[in-house]
Amino acid sequence: MREGKMKICQCGCGQEFITNRNDKKYKNKEHQVRANNDRQYYISKMMRGVTTILKNNFLILRNFLLGKQKQTVSKEFLRGKGFNFNHITEIDNDNGKTAFFVYDFKLSFNNELVTIENCKPWK
Ligand SMILES: [Zn+2]
Repeated sequence: MREGKMKICQCGCGQEFITNRNDKKYKNKEHQVRANNDRQYYISKMMRGVTTILKNNFLILRNFLLGKQKQTVSKEFLRGKGFNFNHITEIDNDNGKTAFFVYDFKLSFNNELVTIENCKPWK
């Protein structure tokens, strides 16, 4: 009978197991399921974090415009409200000028000023 090779389970448990298969990564099915669940949990948690920031950015812009079509404000004002400039949903090239979007709101930057425009007026 062929001797198996000692491997360390990849689920994170650190347990050793013996296998004849080179591609076997987990001690057993239970450890494989655990690893898959952990991976899905991590992905969901990461996505939830970004969604929360984008939702917060969206609400700040919506509350600032309060139904108006277009307004200009300083970046510092938005920062003070908790706006996170690292998270947007789209980048567009508008006649050679770059426009940034947070869902329906278009942001155009001019030094320290930001013009916010509602591109799909809210109902
Ligand atoms: Zn394991």
